Parts: sequence; C-alpha cells; structure tokens
Amino acid sequence: MQTPVRPLNLAQARDPDFQAAVARDSGQHLASCYQCGNCTAGCSYTPDYDFPVHQVMRLVQLGLKESALSCRSIWLCATCQACTTRCPNNIDVARVMDVLRHMARQAGYAPEPGVKTFTDSFLASVAKHGRVFEVGLAAVFAIKSGKPLQDAGLGLPMLTHGKLSLTPHEPEGNGKAEVAAIFARFDRVAAQKARAHSPGETPGNGKKGGGE
Ligand code: SF4
Ligand code: SF4
Repeated sequence: MQTPVRPLNLAQARDPDFQAAVARDSGQHLASCYQCGNCTAGCSYTPDYDFPVHQVMRLVQLGLKESALSCRSIWLCATCQACTTRCPNNIDVARVMDVLRHMARQAGYAPEPGVKTFTDSFLASVAKHGRVFEVGLAAVFAIKSGKPLQDAGLGLPMLTHGKLSLTPHEPEGNGKAEVAAIFARFDRVAAQKARAHSPGETPGNGKKGGGE
C-alpha cells in the first residue's frame, strides 16, 4: 500500500544553518537543486516515502530541519544512487540522504525503529567478530525487534543448505584488530562531535528510539 505523502508544515521553525550544515557534510551544492523531480521519478521507494526525495531536498533548502530529520524516507532509502545518476545538476542526492540519516541518528530520531535496531545489531556483530555473524545477528535482531519468529522460515532452509554457519567466521591474522581500530576511531570522533554540540539543543517530534 502506498504511503501518503506527509503535508509540508511551513509554519515550523526554520534553521537558517541547516542547509549549510548538510552541504558541508555532504560536499554537495544543494542550492542548485531546481526541483525537477528526476530523482523522485527514478526512486523505487517513492511509494513508501512520506516525503519523496526531491521534497527532502526542498526541506533542506528551506531549513526545515525538524521535518527533514524526522521523516521516514531517509531511513527507507536503499542508497541505490538512482537519484544521483539522474540528477541533471550532478548533485549526489544519495549522499545527501546518507548525511541526513547520520544527522537524524545523532539527534535521536528513529521514525523507523526496525531499521535502527537492525543497523545497531549489524554493527554490534561486526564490532564483536570483525565481520558479521549472520545467525547471531538474526537472533539478536529477532529478540530486539520483538518478533522472534519473523525470519524462522528463511533461516532453517538456509542452515540446512549450508548457507549459514552456527559459529562465527572471524577474519584471520590482524583483521579483527583492524576492524576494532575502526570502531575505536569512530567512537573517538563521535565523542569529539558530541562535546562540540550545543548542550541546549533538543530535537522535536518523531524522535527517540534510543539514540546511540
Ligand atoms: S539512493 Fe535512496 S533516494 Fe536515491 S533513488 Fe535510491 S532509494 Fe531513492
Ligand atoms: S534530480 Fe537533482 S535537481 Fe532535480 S529535484 Fe532531484 S536533486 Fe533536485
């Protein structure tokens, strides 16, 4: 079923610095978007988005940070880059969506809790084993999402056909330590950014699902 497009609330407070922040983090010239809609026309997820991708771009241009960061679209985006390849102004739209996801996460928004739960479980598995341990990931995700049997019908045939292993296959040599170093570096940078954030800043509606 098609998701209804969310009405645009132009009365909400605008953040005059929002476009510049997204432009800085994405490296894209957002003002050059002239709303042709080519990105939306090529996006397979448009029927599921609450804001089509060209409208997400518009939200950013208008500084409507609350709507941009609380929308479902940025979490459903598959980073397929169809929008990027179709943009006549060479805007890496998929990169913009990626940056918005990061910003939304940092601000505590999680309008699609299942996506956040899966991402958290995936990253925890990689951090622990150096690469993803599929059976462990599926088990943790099933428990955390409150749907313990949701993938049982898939898991059993995959196990019997040898597509899944009951034990983790960790990288050989220094691989696990190298992956751990990446996570440690991320934690350091995230802590630095958190310290740099204004302590009074609080996100609005549509947020929370337990930030990082
Ligand atoms: S990258 Fe995301 S927004 Fe762009 S076309 Fe693919 S799914 Fe749609
Ligand atoms: S294709 Fe490019 S210019 Fe057209 S609406 Fe999308 S981002 Fe804007």
